[in-house]
Amino acid sequence: MTGRPSVLIIASESVPFVKTGGLADVVCALAKSLKELGVDARVMIPKHSKIKYEHQDELETLATSTIRLGWREKYLGVQTMEMDGVVFYFIDNEDYFGDAVYRGGDAENEQYLFFCKAVCEALSLIDFDPDILHLNDWHTGMIPLLLKTQYTNWFDNDKHILFTIHNIEFQGKMDFGLMKDLLGVPDHYYSPEYIEAGGCANMLKAGLVFTDRISTVSPNYSDEIMHPWFGMGMEGILSARRHELCGILNGIDTEIFDPGSDEDIAAQYSAADMTNKRACKKALRDEFSLQTKLTTPIVSMVTRLTRQKGFDLVQYVLEELMQEDIAFVVLGSGDQQYEDYMNYIAAKYPEKSGVHIGYNEALAHRVYAGSDFLLMPSEFEPCGLSQMIAQRYGTLPIVRETGGLVDTIEPYNIFTGKGTGFSFSTFNAHDMMAAVKLALSVYRDKPVFRRLRKSAMLLDNSFLKSAGQYKALYKSML
Ligand code: ADP
Repeated sequence: MTGRPSVLIIASESVPFVKTGGLADVVCALAKSLKELGVDARVMIPKHSKIKYEHQDELETLATSTIRLGWREKYLGVQTMEMDGVVFYFIDNEDYFGDAVYRGGDAENEQYLFFCKAVCEALSLIDFDPDILHLNDWHTGMIPLLLKTQYTNWFDNDKHILFTIHNIEFQGKMDFGLMKDLLGVPDHYYSPEYIEAGGCANMLKAGLVFTDRISTVSPNYSDEIMHPWFGMGMEGILSARRHELCGILNGIDTEIFDPGSDEDIAAQYSAADMTNKRACKKALRDEFSLQTKLTTPIVSMVTRLTRQKGFDLVQYVLEELMQEDIAFVVLGSGDQQYEDYMNYIAAKYPEKSGVHIGYNEALAHRVYAGSDFLLMPSEFEPCGLSQMIAQRYGTLPIVRETGGLVDTIEPYNIFTGKGTGFSFSTFNAHDMMAAVKLALSVYRDKPVFRRLRKSAMLLDNSFLKSAGQYKALYKSML
Protein backbone atom coordinates (compact mmCIF):
# COMPACT_ATOMS: atom_id res chain seq x y z
CA MET A 1 0.00 0.00 0.00
CA THR A 2 1.38 3.38 -0.91
CA GLY A 3 -0.12 6.74 -0.07
CA ARG A 4 0.96 10.27 0.65
CA PRO A 5 3.54 11.54 0.39
CA SER A 6 4.46 10.44 -3.10
CA VAL A 7 7.91 11.53 -4.16
CA LEU A 8 9.80 12.09 -7.37
CA ILE A 9 13.55 12.05 -6.77
CA ILE A 10 15.36 14.03 -9.46
CA ALA A 11 19.11 13.81 -10.00
CA SER A 12 21.83 13.71 -12.63
CA GLU A 13 22.73 10.06 -12.01
CA SER A 14 21.46 6.92 -10.30
CA VAL A 15 22.56 3.37 -9.73
CA PRO A 16 22.09 0.89 -11.43
CA PHE A 17 22.18 2.97 -14.61
CA VAL A 18 24.94 5.55 -14.27
CA LYS A 19 27.31 6.18 -11.41
CA THR A 20 30.23 8.54 -11.12
CA GLY A 21 30.08 8.97 -7.34
CA GLY A 22 28.13 8.55 -4.13
CA LEU A 23 25.10 10.55 -5.37
CA ALA A 24 24.13 7.71 -7.69
CA ASP A 25 24.22 5.19 -4.82
CA VAL A 26 22.12 7.42 -2.61
CA VAL A 27 19.39 8.14 -5.16
CA CYS A 28 18.74 4.47 -5.83
CA ALA A 29 19.07 3.33 -2.23
CA LEU A 30 16.70 6.08 -1.09
CA ALA A 31 14.06 5.18 -3.67
CA LYS A 32 14.27 1.47 -2.86
CA SER A 33 14.13 2.03 0.90
CA LEU A 34 11.24 4.49 0.65
CA LYS A 35 9.29 1.84 -1.26
CA GLU A 36 9.92 -0.57 1.58
CA LEU A 37 8.44 2.04 3.89
CA GLY A 38 5.30 2.30 1.76
CA VAL A 39 6.19 5.57 0.00
CA ASP A 40 5.57 5.77 -3.74
CA ALA A 41 9.03 7.01 -4.65
CA ARG A 42 10.18 7.25 -8.25
CA VAL A 43 13.33 8.59 -9.89
CA MET A 44 13.96 10.91 -12.84
CA ILE A 45 17.43 11.21 -14.42
CA PRO A 46 18.84 12.07 -17.86
CA LYS A 47 18.98 9.21 -20.33
CA HIS A 48 22.74 9.01 -20.53
CA SER A 49 24.16 7.09 -23.48
CA LYS A 50 25.06 4.07 -21.33
CA ILE A 51 21.36 3.61 -20.52
CA LYS A 52 20.50 3.73 -24.17
CA TYR A 53 22.95 0.98 -25.03
CA GLU A 54 22.17 -1.32 -22.11
CA HIS A 55 18.41 -0.96 -21.78
CA GLN A 56 17.11 0.13 -25.17
CA ASP A 57 14.63 -2.76 -25.41
CA GLU A 58 13.20 -2.29 -21.93
CA LEU A 59 12.46 1.42 -22.21
CA GLU A 60 8.89 2.53 -22.83
CA THR A 61 8.36 5.92 -24.42
CA LEU A 62 5.77 8.02 -22.58
CA ALA A 63 6.01 11.16 -24.66
CA THR A 64 7.98 12.92 -27.34
CA SER A 65 7.86 16.64 -27.64
CA THR A 66 9.97 19.72 -28.19
CA ILE A 67 10.91 22.46 -25.80
CA ARG A 68 12.12 25.98 -26.35
CA LEU A 69 15.49 27.00 -24.99
CA GLY A 70 15.62 30.66 -25.94
CA TRP A 71 15.47 30.76 -29.75
CA ARG A 72 16.29 27.04 -30.02
CA GLU A 73 13.82 24.23 -30.33
CA LYS A 74 15.08 21.05 -28.67
CA TYR A 75 13.83 17.48 -28.74
CA LEU A 76 12.46 16.05 -25.50
CA GLY A 77 11.71 12.39 -25.03
CA VAL A 78 10.37 10.97 -21.79
CA GLN A 79 10.91 7.27 -21.27
CA THR A 80 10.38 4.92 -18.37
CA MET A 81 11.29 1.51 -17.07
CA GLU A 82 11.05 -0.33 -13.77
CA MET A 83 14.15 -1.66 -12.07
CA ASP A 84 14.29 -3.46 -8.71
CA GLY A 85 10.69 -2.37 -8.04
CA VAL A 86 11.43 1.32 -8.63
CA VAL A 87 9.97 3.28 -11.55
CA PHE A 88 12.61 5.37 -13.34
CA TYR A 89 11.85 8.19 -15.78
CA PHE A 90 14.47 9.28 -18.27
CA ILE A 91 14.88 12.62 -19.98
CA ASP A 92 15.99 11.80 -23.50
CA ASN A 93 17.98 14.12 -25.73
CA GLU A 94 20.99 12.78 -27.62
CA ASP A 95 22.57 16.21 -28.10
CA TYR A 96 22.87 16.73 -24.38
CA PHE A 97 23.22 13.24 -22.96
CA GLY A 98 24.72 11.25 -25.82
CA ASP A 99 28.27 11.30 -24.48
CA ALA A 100 29.82 12.42 -21.16
CA VAL A 101 27.63 12.49 -18.06
CA TYR A 102 29.39 15.73 -17.13
CA ARG A 103 30.99 17.61 -20.03
CA GLY A 104 32.68 20.25 -17.90
CA GLY A 105 32.51 24.05 -18.16
CA ASP A 106 29.69 25.78 -19.98
CA ALA A 107 28.91 22.67 -22.00
CA GLU A 108 27.97 20.98 -18.73
CA ASN A 109 26.06 24.03 -17.55
CA GLU A 110 24.04 23.88 -20.74
CA GLN A 111 23.41 20.12 -20.33
CA TYR A 112 21.82 20.70 -16.95
CA LEU A 113 20.02 23.95 -17.76
CA PHE A 114 18.32 21.87 -20.42
CA PHE A 115 17.70 19.07 -17.90
CA CYS A 116 16.00 21.46 -15.46
CA LYS A 117 13.68 22.82 -18.11
CA ALA A 118 13.03 19.35 -19.53
CA VAL A 119 12.08 18.04 -16.08
CA CYS A 120 9.56 20.88 -15.66
CA GLU A 121 8.00 19.96 -19.00
CA ALA A 122 8.09 16.24 -18.29
CA LEU A 123 6.18 16.61 -15.02
CA SER A 124 2.95 17.06 -16.94
CA LEU A 125 3.80 14.29 -19.42
CA ILE A 126 4.29 11.42 -16.98
CA ASP A 127 1.73 9.12 -15.35
CA PHE A 128 2.63 10.29 -11.84
CA ASP A 129 1.61 13.31 -9.80
CA PRO A 130 4.02 13.54 -6.86
CA ASP A 131 3.41 15.55 -3.69
CA ILE A 132 7.11 16.13 -3.20
CA LEU A 133 9.89 16.84 -5.65
CA HIS A 134 13.16 15.81 -4.09
CA LEU A 135 15.97 17.59 -5.94
CA ASN A 136 19.63 16.75 -5.63
CA ASP A 137 22.65 18.99 -6.14
CA TRP A 138 23.19 21.87 -8.53
CA HIS A 139 22.19 19.93 -11.65
CA THR A 140 18.58 20.30 -10.52
CA GLY A 141 19.00 23.81 -9.09
CA MET A 142 16.88 25.75 -11.59
CA ILE A 143 13.81 23.55 -11.18
CA PRO A 144 12.29 25.41 -8.18
CA LEU A 145 12.68 28.82 -9.82
CA LEU A 146 11.22 27.60 -13.10
CA LEU A 147 8.29 25.86 -11.41
CA LYS A 148 7.48 28.88 -9.27
CA THR A 149 7.76 31.43 -12.06
CA GLN A 150 7.07 29.67 -15.39
CA TYR A 151 5.17 26.46 -14.55
CA THR A 152 2.60 27.75 -12.07
CA ASN A 153 -0.14 25.71 -13.77
CA TRP A 154 1.54 22.51 -12.65
CA PHE A 155 3.12 23.79 -9.45
CA ASP A 156 0.25 24.47 -7.05
CA ASN A 157 -0.05 24.70 -3.25
CA ASP A 158 -0.19 20.93 -2.89
CA LYS A 159 3.33 20.50 -4.24
CA HIS A 160 6.50 20.89 -2.21
CA ILE A 161 10.19 20.87 -2.95
CA LEU A 162 13.08 19.46 -0.95
CA PHE A 163 16.59 20.29 -2.12
CA THR A 164 19.43 18.07 -0.91
CA ILE A 165 23.05 19.18 -0.98
CA HIS A 166 25.37 16.23 -1.57
CA ASN A 167 28.47 18.32 -2.20
CA ILE A 168 28.51 22.10 -1.92
CA GLU A 169 31.78 22.38 -3.80
CA PHE A 170 30.01 21.94 -7.12
CA GLN A 171 27.65 24.81 -7.84
CA GLY A 172 26.99 25.23 -11.56
CA LYS A 173 28.42 28.73 -11.92
CA MET A 174 28.07 30.58 -15.20
CA ASP A 175 27.64 33.88 -16.93
CA PHE A 176 24.10 35.11 -16.38
CA GLY A 177 23.80 35.63 -20.12
CA LEU A 178 23.81 31.86 -20.72
CA MET A 179 21.09 31.20 -18.15
CA LYS A 180 19.00 34.10 -19.35
CA ASP A 181 19.35 33.06 -22.96
CA LEU A 182 18.45 29.40 -22.42
CA LEU A 183 15.83 29.63 -19.66
CA GLY A 184 14.51 33.16 -19.99
CA VAL A 185 15.27 34.01 -16.36
CA PRO A 186 14.37 37.69 -15.85
CA ASP A 187 17.16 40.17 -15.07
CA HIS A 188 15.90 41.08 -11.61
CA TYR A 189 16.70 37.56 -10.33
CA TYR A 190 20.35 38.19 -11.08
CA SER A 191 21.02 39.79 -7.71
CA PRO A 192 22.59 38.59 -4.42
CA GLU A 193 19.14 37.92 -2.83
CA TYR A 194 18.42 35.43 -5.59
CA ILE A 195 20.77 33.61 -7.90
CA GLU A 196 23.91 35.75 -8.11
CA ALA A 197 26.97 34.74 -6.11
CA GLY A 198 30.51 36.06 -6.55
CA GLY A 199 29.71 37.67 -9.89
CA CYS A 200 28.16 34.57 -11.46
CA ALA A 201 24.74 33.10 -11.91
CA ASN A 202 24.76 30.08 -9.62
CA MET A 203 22.44 27.10 -10.08
CA LEU A 204 23.04 25.73 -6.60
CA LYS A 205 22.14 29.06 -5.06
CA ALA A 206 18.99 29.23 -7.19
CA GLY A 207 18.02 25.86 -5.76
CA LEU A 208 18.70 26.94 -2.18
CA VAL A 209 16.76 30.19 -2.54
CA PHE A 210 13.65 28.86 -4.27
CA THR A 211 13.22 25.47 -2.63
CA ASP A 212 10.84 24.94 0.29
CA ARG A 213 13.21 22.94 2.46
CA ILE A 214 16.90 22.07 2.38
CA SER A 215 18.69 19.00 3.60
CA THR A 216 22.21 17.74 3.44
CA VAL A 217 23.70 14.32 3.89
CA SER A 218 24.91 14.34 7.48
CA PRO A 219 24.01 16.29 10.63
CA ASN A 220 27.59 17.45 11.12
CA TYR A 221 27.89 18.78 7.56
CA SER A 222 24.60 20.68 7.97
CA ASP A 223 26.29 22.65 10.77
CA GLU A 224 29.59 23.03 8.95
CA ILE A 225 28.14 24.55 5.76
CA MET A 226 26.78 27.53 7.64
CA HIS A 227 30.40 28.62 8.13
CA PRO A 228 32.48 30.27 5.40
CA TRP A 229 35.22 27.59 5.33
CA PHE A 230 32.76 24.84 4.39
CA GLY A 231 29.91 26.91 2.92
CA MET A 232 31.92 27.95 -0.16
CA GLY A 233 29.91 31.12 -0.59
CA MET A 234 26.55 29.56 0.32
CA GLU A 235 26.93 30.10 4.10
CA GLY A 236 24.83 33.30 3.97
CA ILE A 237 21.72 31.78 2.42
CA LEU A 238 22.11 28.62 4.50
CA SER A 239 22.41 30.58 7.75
CA ALA A 240 19.41 32.66 6.76
CA ARG A 241 17.42 29.45 6.17
CA ARG A 242 18.90 27.49 9.07
CA HIS A 243 15.43 26.60 10.41
CA GLU A 244 14.57 24.98 7.10
CA LEU A 245 17.86 23.10 6.90
CA CYS A 246 18.55 19.66 8.34
CA GLY A 247 21.09 16.87 8.00
CA ILE A 248 20.06 13.28 7.31
CA LEU A 249 22.87 10.78 7.35
CA ASN A 250 23.23 8.69 4.21
CA GLY A 251 23.32 4.95 4.41
CA ILE A 252 24.51 2.29 2.01
CA ASP A 253 22.68 -0.36 0.04
CA THR A 254 23.33 -3.33 2.30
CA GLU A 255 22.23 -5.75 -0.43
CA ILE A 256 24.81 -4.50 -2.92
CA PHE A 257 27.49 -4.20 -0.25
CA ASP A 258 27.19 -7.45 1.65
CA PRO A 259 30.31 -9.56 2.23
CA GLY A 260 27.99 -12.46 3.04
CA SER A 261 26.61 -12.66 -0.49
CA ASP A 262 28.94 -10.52 -2.61
CA GLU A 263 29.74 -12.41 -5.82
CA ASP A 264 32.55 -10.06 -6.76
CA ILE A 265 34.80 -11.09 -3.90
CA ALA A 266 36.98 -14.20 -3.58
CA ALA A 267 35.04 -15.73 -0.69
CA GLN A 268 32.04 -14.65 1.36
CA TYR A 269 32.22 -13.91 5.07
CA SER A 270 30.24 -12.31 7.87
CA ALA A 271 30.74 -10.77 11.30
CA ALA A 272 30.00 -14.17 12.82
CA ASP A 273 32.60 -15.95 10.73
CA MET A 274 35.38 -13.83 9.31
CA THR A 275 37.66 -16.67 8.26
CA ASN A 276 37.19 -15.96 4.55
CA LYS A 277 38.30 -12.36 4.83
CA ARG A 278 41.80 -13.82 4.77
CA ALA A 279 41.08 -15.42 1.39
CA CYS A 280 39.90 -12.03 0.12
CA LYS A 281 43.12 -10.44 1.34
CA LYS A 282 45.19 -13.12 -0.33
CA ALA A 283 43.28 -12.61 -3.60
CA LEU A 284 43.84 -8.86 -3.43
CA ARG A 285 47.56 -9.40 -2.86
CA ASP A 286 47.68 -11.67 -5.90
CA GLU A 287 45.63 -9.29 -8.02
CA PHE A 288 48.08 -6.45 -7.38
CA SER A 289 51.15 -8.75 -7.29
CA LEU A 290 52.01 -7.57 -3.79
CA GLN A 291 55.02 -9.35 -2.37
CA THR A 292 54.21 -8.49 1.23
CA LYS A 293 53.43 -11.21 3.78
CA LEU A 294 49.82 -12.15 4.41
CA THR A 295 50.24 -10.70 7.89
CA THR A 296 51.30 -7.31 6.52
CA PRO A 297 48.38 -4.89 6.84
CA ILE A 298 46.87 -3.52 3.64
CA VAL A 299 45.84 0.13 3.74
CA SER A 300 43.62 1.16 0.82
CA MET A 301 41.81 4.06 -0.75
CA VAL A 302 38.79 3.79 -3.08
CA THR A 303 38.08 7.30 -4.16
CA ARG A 304 38.15 10.17 -6.56
CA LEU A 305 41.74 11.41 -6.68
CA THR A 306 41.08 15.02 -5.75
CA ARG A 307 42.14 17.59 -3.24
CA GLN A 308 38.87 17.11 -1.31
CA LYS A 309 39.81 13.51 -0.59
CA GLY A 310 43.03 14.56 1.15
CA PHE A 311 45.56 13.61 -1.51
CA ASP A 312 47.80 16.52 -0.56
CA LEU A 313 48.26 14.89 2.85
CA VAL A 314 48.84 11.49 1.30
CA GLN A 315 51.40 12.90 -1.10
CA TYR A 316 53.24 14.63 1.73
CA VAL A 317 53.91 11.55 3.87
CA LEU A 318 53.26 8.45 1.79
CA GLU A 319 56.92 7.67 1.17
CA GLU A 320 57.60 7.93 4.89
CA LEU A 321 54.66 5.61 5.48
CA MET A 322 55.94 3.15 2.89
CA GLN A 323 58.94 2.52 5.16
CA GLU A 324 56.54 0.77 7.57
CA ASP A 325 55.49 -2.84 7.20
CA ILE A 326 52.41 -2.07 5.09
CA ALA A 327 51.01 -2.52 1.62
CA PHE A 328 49.17 0.39 0.04
CA VAL A 329 46.42 0.00 -2.55
CA VAL A 330 44.64 2.78 -4.42
CA LEU A 331 41.66 2.49 -6.75
CA GLY A 332 40.54 5.77 -8.23
CA SER A 333 40.77 8.40 -10.88
CA GLY A 334 40.73 12.15 -10.89
CA ASP A 335 43.20 15.00 -11.08
CA GLN A 336 46.24 14.37 -13.25
CA GLN A 337 48.77 15.42 -10.59
CA TYR A 338 47.47 12.81 -8.13
CA GLU A 339 47.16 10.11 -10.77
CA ASP A 340 50.80 10.80 -11.77
CA TYR A 341 51.86 10.66 -8.15
CA MET A 342 50.14 7.33 -7.54
CA ASN A 343 51.71 5.90 -10.69
CA TYR A 344 55.08 7.06 -9.40
CA ILE A 345 54.46 5.25 -6.10
CA ALA A 346 53.42 2.11 -7.98
CA ALA A 347 56.65 2.20 -10.00
CA LYS A 348 58.88 2.91 -7.03
CA TYR A 349 57.34 0.36 -4.63
CA PRO A 350 55.99 -2.38 -6.94
CA GLU A 351 56.26 -5.07 -4.27
CA LYS A 352 54.16 -3.23 -1.68
CA SER A 353 51.84 -0.93 -3.57
CA GLY A 354 48.97 -1.52 -5.95
CA VAL A 355 47.51 1.28 -8.01
CA HIS A 356 44.58 1.04 -10.40
CA ILE A 357 43.73 4.31 -12.08
CA GLY A 358 40.16 4.07 -13.28
CA TYR A 359 36.65 3.31 -12.16
CA ASN A 360 35.87 -0.34 -11.48
CA GLU A 361 32.90 -1.36 -9.37
CA ALA A 362 33.80 -5.04 -8.93
CA LEU A 363 37.40 -4.21 -8.09
CA ALA A 364 36.13 -1.72 -5.49
CA HIS A 365 34.30 -4.60 -3.77
CA ARG A 366 37.48 -6.68 -3.83
CA VAL A 367 39.52 -3.84 -2.36
CA TYR A 368 37.01 -3.27 0.45
CA ALA A 369 36.95 -6.99 1.21
CA GLY A 370 40.69 -7.64 0.94
CA SER A 371 42.01 -4.68 2.92
CA ASP A 372 42.59 -4.16 6.63
CA PHE A 373 42.23 -0.38 6.64
CA LEU A 374 40.63 2.26 4.43
CA LEU A 375 42.30 5.66 4.47
CA MET A 376 39.98 8.66 3.99
CA PRO A 377 41.74 11.85 5.09
CA SER A 378 39.20 14.20 3.48
CA GLU A 379 39.55 17.96 3.64
CA PHE A 380 35.76 18.07 3.78
CA GLU A 381 33.25 15.24 3.42
CA PRO A 382 29.49 15.85 3.21
CA CYS A 383 28.80 12.26 4.26
CA GLY A 384 31.07 9.76 2.58
CA LEU A 385 30.01 6.26 1.66
CA SER A 386 33.37 4.54 1.31
CA GLN A 387 33.97 4.51 5.07
CA MET A 388 30.56 2.89 5.66
CA ILE A 389 31.15 0.30 2.97
CA ALA A 390 34.58 -0.43 4.44
CA GLN A 391 33.08 -0.94 7.90
CA ARG A 392 30.57 -3.38 6.47
CA TYR A 393 33.46 -5.39 5.02
CA GLY A 394 35.36 -5.34 8.33
CA THR A 395 37.93 -2.91 6.98
CA LEU A 396 38.62 -0.22 9.54
CA PRO A 397 38.45 3.37 8.27
CA ILE A 398 41.15 5.90 9.16
CA VAL A 399 39.47 9.27 8.62
CA ARG A 400 39.78 12.95 9.25
CA GLU A 401 37.14 14.31 11.59
CA THR A 402 35.04 16.29 9.16
CA GLY A 403 31.44 16.20 7.90
CA GLY A 404 29.80 12.80 7.87
CA LEU A 405 33.02 11.06 8.83
CA VAL A 406 32.39 12.35 12.35
CA ASP A 407 28.84 10.97 12.31
CA THR A 408 29.78 7.52 11.06
CA ILE A 409 33.02 6.55 12.84
CA GLU A 410 33.48 5.89 16.51
CA PRO A 411 37.21 6.56 16.84
CA TYR A 412 39.23 3.93 18.66
CA ASN A 413 39.57 4.85 22.31
CA ILE A 414 42.75 3.47 23.83
CA PHE A 415 41.24 3.55 27.34
CA THR A 416 38.00 1.69 26.65
CA GLY A 417 39.40 -0.33 23.74
CA LYS A 418 36.23 0.43 21.77
CA GLY A 419 35.69 1.93 18.35
CA THR A 420 34.88 1.28 14.69
CA GLY A 421 37.80 3.12 13.13
CA PHE A 422 40.51 5.72 13.67
CA SER A 423 40.47 9.47 13.26
CA PHE A 424 42.51 12.63 13.43
CA SER A 425 41.34 16.18 13.67
CA THR A 426 43.64 18.74 12.02
CA PHE A 427 44.16 18.66 8.25
CA ASN A 428 47.82 17.90 8.70
CA ALA A 429 49.86 15.14 7.08
CA HIS A 430 51.70 14.09 10.21
CA ASP A 431 48.50 13.97 12.24
CA MET A 432 47.20 11.60 9.57
CA MET A 433 50.40 9.61 9.84
CA ALA A 434 49.99 9.34 13.63
CA ALA A 435 46.46 7.97 13.12
CA VAL A 436 47.75 5.40 10.61
CA LYS A 437 50.50 4.37 13.01
CA LEU A 438 48.00 3.98 15.82
CA ALA A 439 45.92 1.79 13.52
CA LEU A 440 49.00 -0.30 12.67
CA SER A 441 49.79 -0.79 16.34
CA VAL A 442 46.23 -1.93 17.01
CA TYR A 443 46.52 -4.29 14.06
CA ARG A 444 49.34 -6.06 15.89
CA ASP A 445 47.13 -6.43 18.99
CA LYS A 446 44.97 -9.18 17.51
CA PRO A 447 42.18 -9.43 20.13
CA VAL A 448 41.56 -5.67 20.04
CA PHE A 449 41.78 -5.53 16.25
CA ARG A 450 39.30 -8.38 15.89
CA ARG A 451 36.91 -6.69 18.29
CA LEU A 452 37.02 -3.38 16.41
CA ARG A 453 36.51 -5.16 13.12
CA LYS A 454 33.49 -6.97 14.44
CA SER A 455 32.00 -3.78 15.90
CA ALA A 456 32.43 -2.09 12.53
CA MET A 457 30.73 -4.96 10.68
CA LEU A 458 27.81 -5.00 13.06
CA LEU A 459 26.98 -1.30 12.58
CA ASP A 460 23.63 -0.62 10.98
CA ASN A 461 24.55 1.63 8.06
CA SER A 462 21.58 0.58 5.97
CA PHE A 463 19.64 3.15 4.03
CA LEU A 464 16.39 2.13 5.66
CA LYS A 465 17.24 4.28 8.68
CA SER A 466 17.88 7.32 6.50
CA ALA A 467 14.76 6.66 4.44
CA GLY A 468 12.64 6.72 7.60
CA GLN A 469 13.98 10.19 8.36
CA TYR A 470 13.32 11.38 4.80
CA LYS A 471 9.78 10.05 5.03
CA ALA A 472 9.22 12.00 8.25
CA LEU A 473 10.68 15.11 6.63
CA TYR A 474 8.44 14.79 3.55
CA LYS A 475 5.40 14.39 5.79
CA SER A 476 6.31 17.49 7.75
CA MET A 477 6.34 19.43 4.47
CA LEU A 478 2.78 18.55 3.42
P1 ADP B 1 32.06 10.93 -3.43
O1 ADP B 1 32.47 12.25 -2.84
O2 ADP B 1 32.95 10.56 -4.58
O3 ADP B 1 30.62 10.80 -3.73
P2 ADP B 1 31.57 8.85 -1.46
O4 ADP B 1 32.46 8.19 -0.47
O5 ADP B 1 30.34 9.49 -0.95
O6 ADP B 1 32.46 9.88 -2.28
O7 ADP B 1 31.11 7.78 -2.53
C1 ADP B 1 32.01 7.21 -3.41
C2 ADP B 1 31.38 5.97 -4.02
O8 ADP B 1 32.01 5.71 -5.26
C3 ADP B 1 31.59 4.74 -3.16
O9 ADP B 1 30.54 3.83 -3.43
C4 ADP B 1 32.92 4.20 -3.70
O10 ADP B 1 33.07 2.82 -3.46
C5 ADP B 1 32.77 4.49 -5.17
N1 ADP B 1 34.02 4.70 -5.89
C6 ADP B 1 34.85 5.78 -5.80
N2 ADP B 1 35.88 5.64 -6.66
C7 ADP B 1 35.71 4.46 -7.27
C8 ADP B 1 36.44 3.76 -8.29
N3 ADP B 1 37.54 4.25 -8.82
N4 ADP B 1 35.96 2.56 -8.71
C9 ADP B 1 34.83 2.06 -8.17
N5 ADP B 1 34.09 2.66 -7.23
C10 ADP B 1 34.52 3.86 -6.79
